[in-house]
Amino acid sequence: MHELGVTQAVVELAVERANGRRVTRVVLEIGKLSGVLPDAVRFCFDLCAEGTAAEGAALEIVEPPGRGRCRSCGADVPLDGPLGLCPCGGTDLEWIAGGELRVTELELTDV
Ligand SMILES: [Zn+2]
Repeated sequence: MHELGVTQAVVELAVERANGRRVTRVVLEIGKLSGVLPDAVRFCFDLCAEGTAAEGAALEIVEPPGRGRCRSCGADVPLDGPLGLCPCGGTDLEWIAGGELRVTELELTDV
């Protein structure tokens, strides 16, 4: 499962940044176009965090909506999925938002 690897990477990053402290909260941005399922990440998080400095941390997931720019006419087009259609009929869209997959905030506490 793709999300398991993603979640493991998130936990590893949090633990590394914590540098000996405990992680109490992780805010994660998962764009609508990233192809990662937030529910699956939530499900994996406790499992991955078990036995690490991130055990018991609260996980908050923010889901930025997708947006693309049409390469034909330059219009901004909202995207619900990886493939979109511009009102001009163009399908060649450059993603400008929604592909995010990153930790935006960590809350740490001294042990
Ligand atoms: Zn267009």
